[in-house]
This record gives sequence, C-alpha cells and structure tokens, in this order.
Amino acid sequence: MSFDSLGLRAELLRAIGDAGYTIPTPVQAQAIPVILAGRDILAGAQTGTGKTAGFTLPLLQRLNAAPERAPRTFRPVRALILTPTRELAAQIEESVKTYGKYLPTSSTCVFGGVNINPQIQALRRGVDILVATPGRLLDHLQQRTVDLSRVEILVLDEADRMLDMGFIRDIRRILSLLPTRRQNLLFSATFSNEIKVLADDLLNNPTHVEVARKNAESDLVTQAVYLSHRENKRDLLVHLLVEEKIDQALVFMRTKHGADKLVKQLQQDGVSAVPIHGNRSQAQRTRALADFKAGSVRILVATDLAARGLDIDQLPHVINYELPNIPEDYVHRIGRTGRAGSTGEALSLVSGDEQGYLNDIEKLIKKRIARREPTDFHPAPVSAQSAMSSAPRPYSRPDTRPAYPGQRTGNVPARPQRPQPYPTSGPRQGSTAYDSSSRRPR
Ligand code: AMP
Repeated sequence: MSFDSLGLRAELLRAIGDAGYTIPTPVQAQAIPVILAGRDILAGAQTGTGKTAGFTLPLLQRLNAAPERAPRTFRPVRALILTPTRELAAQIEESVKTYGKYLPTSSTCVFGGVNINPQIQALRRGVDILVATPGRLLDHLQQRTVDLSRVEILVLDEADRMLDMGFIRDIRRILSLLPTRRQNLLFSATFSNEIKVLADDLLNNPTHVEVARKNAESDLVTQAVYLSHRENKRDLLVHLLVEEKIDQALVFMRTKHGADKLVKQLQQDGVSAVPIHGNRSQAQRTRALADFKAGSVRILVATDLAARGLDIDQLPHVINYELPNIPEDYVHRIGRTGRAGSTGEALSLVSGDEQGYLNDIEKLIKKRIARREPTDFHPAPVSAQSAMSSAPRPYSRPDTRPAYPGQRTGNVPARPQRPQPYPTSGPRQGSTAYDSSSRRPR
C-alpha cells in the first residue's frame, strides 16, 4: 500500500515524501482513512508505530478541508492534542510542522517547566492546532489565555500514561470545556479499566484500531541480558560500548540520582554522556536531546518518565543499566529502538538483586531473554558486602521455572557446571553469597 491510496492531499504527500516515508505503517494504513471520514477512533498503538503521523496527517487534512471562516487575526484553537510529557508535546508539534509545512495551518505547544509568557503570546496570536500537557493547559484555562470553545478535533495521545501520571481529573476538567460536537481520537498502548471508562465517556461509536498486541515487544529488537555484579556494571558498560561497537545508546536508570551519577562516571571514563530526567530544566532536556540527536553526545542517560515519547530516529541501541521495577516499562524502554521498520538491540545489565525484575519481565513478554557473556572482560574485584546482594545469579531458582505457563524449560542445573565469568575474585559460586534462595528484592 502507498500513501497515495489513503486519500491524502498533495501538500501532505509532498511533506511525507520529504520525510522519506514511502509505505504507511499499519497504524497509519488503518487510522488515516477512518479519521479522514470524520469518525472517532480508539487506537491501541505504542510509540514507535508511526502513530503520530497516523493522527497528524488526517487531522491536518480535515482542518484544511473546511477552513475556519474567522478572520485571520483571530484563529480559535480547532484541534487539541493532549499528551503526558513535555518531550512528547514538543515532538508532536514538530511533527505537525513537518507534515503541515505546505499548508497554512498554524500550531504551538504548551507545557510546564518553562516561562508561560511566550506561550500566552503565541496563543494570543492565534493557532489552529494546540499540543499541550494537561497541567499547563489548565493554567492557561484558569488565566483565560486560551479558548477551547471551538475545538473540532481532540486527540488524547498516550492516554494510559496520562492516567498513570495522575492527570485524569485535569483531563476531565479540560473535556468539560470543549464543545460537545467534535471528533475524538484516543491512543493508548494499554487498556486498563480506567482507560475503558474514559473511552466509553469520550468516544462516539468509535472504530477500533489495534496494531500492536498489548505489551508486545517489537520483533525488530534483539534482546540480550548480561549478568553482572552491580559494582561491575560501570566497567561492563564501557567494555560493551567497545566490544559491541556501540556508537550511540540510550541508557536507562531507575532514578534521577542514579542517572546523574552514571553520567559523571562515564565522563570520568572518557565517554561523552548527558542526563535527561525530571529534575533537569526544560532547556537542559531540550539541549541534551538535540546534542544526542546531532551525534555530539554518545550516551543519553534517561529515567523512564523522561524517556517516554522520546523520538530518536535510527536509534540502534538501548541499554538497561538497571532494570525497571515495572515490567511494562521494559517494553516501553526497548520500544525506543527498532522503530518504524529499522532493527535495534536492547541490552540489559542485570545484577543478582534484579533477578526478580527480570523474571517479571520475561513473564510479561512470554519469552526468555538470551543471556550473553562479554568476551575478554576482566572486572575489578567486588567487595564481599556487595557480592552478597548484587552477585549475578545465572542459575538461580527462578530461572529453572517457566517464564510463562507452558514454556519448555529443560533441566537447568542448580549449581554451575562451568566457571563463571563474574566475578574474577570474591566469593565463589555456590558459597552463601550466591545462595539461590536469597530473598527477592521486593
Ligand atoms: P511514532 O510512533 O509516531 O513516535 O513514530 C516513530 C518514528 O517513525 C518516527 O521517527 C517517525 O518519523 C517514523 N515514521 C512515521 N511514519 C513512518 C513511515 N511511514 N515510514 C517510515 N518511518 C515513519
């Protein structure tokens, strides 16, 4: 199928051609005709599926098919796109500009953490399409610096994450200020009961579009686990950058503090790295992303929330320096690579205290992730204290059980039959430090 057959107008096809896209992704093929027909949709699509163009292209076409007759000096907001994070808001607005560059449509985006005044000025000048995070949009509504009474199309993007972030009350307040007659598009990676209730209230006889199975991880991403002492992860990461010839990678940490610490350590090791997380100012986050995209920084160290929605073309590597404690976040993390048809690799450095997280992830994705061992890696000795808590447990009990019902497991020996690469010193496998019965981390 080609974009021409979807019924998009010439200006949009030209912009798509400039972006280098030749074939619509499945979500685009399904959603574009439905949205063009003016119908509501409920779409199960994760980031990386091309969903942004899936709603932006038909939205631009619909707004331009029936141009608002208001004088050009006053442009009421005609399409509102709500999204959970600042990064996502900025990226969606970038997409609106990219795809709408041959059309007269105007847009802006508003999000918190930055001065509100330039946003007020942009809104005062008038925009057709407004991309917003819920909190900052409510600030504007309270200050009466935005008028939503003429909204024709509403998009809720990453609705599940907006609810996870506690935005439901803000969203409902915003919805109450919109005209009742409008087109609604709801995109969500997962469908909890809360999402279903919201969809029932919001959508009018929607068409369902489902392109990625719930919690399915992309086939295009190769996944591997390296078992390591926590103390050795820093050296292992630097080793893998060389061994695996990794030019650039997005590295995940569980905490902001951990992300800052790793950035300092990598810099000490001569690897250029910048953090991206909620304690960084918007300017710092934008700069970090721009430097990473431009290739002037090798490693972007992120927390889960900050990374949500990051759109980096051709990102070949995601590295989980720490596993997430919520298994779904693993799927979101590795979804940063292998996007829109390109292949990618997701490597996880897993210490003994993270074995429980790994088990939960494997249960969720219904497969065992391949274990890899680094070649020629000689880590420094670890302290006995650390060895107690963070030793890798390649043969620990949970691995002998199926990751999901029905999985074939075979007879995995309870104790190692061959020397282990980690650590080169410290307690031996089979000693108390490696006791496979030690408690799970949670
Ligand atoms: P999204 O899921 O909207 O975050 O998009 C993921 C990535 O896919 C973005 O980098 C888009 O630029 C890219 N993309 C979107 N549509 C296509 C397409 N039809 N062909 C190739 N790449 C695309």
